[in-house]
Amino acid sequence: MNRHLAVNPIACTGHGLCADLLPELIKLDEWGYPILADRDVPAELAQLARRAVRTCPTLALRLAATADRKEATR
Ligand code: SF4
Repeated sequence: MNRHLAVNPIACTGHGLCADLLPELIKLDEWGYPILADRDVPAELAQLARRAVRTCPTLALRLAATADRKEATR
């Protein structure tokens, strides 16, 4: 199943740790909040993505099924 990163903007406090761990898919805006790549996590980055999710101190980052994203935009 394809997965993408998703962030809960209420829970995220802008630590920026996720962007340090996964700069290929996560950039920070000028306030230090994550901007997620609008694409699925490629297989070669899956382990790093899981680590970024586990490491988020506020549990704001998650891996979501891509089908969920398509449903949410309808
Ligand atoms: S590590 Fe978590 S709290 Fe910090 S910027 Fe990333 S998603 Fe937000």
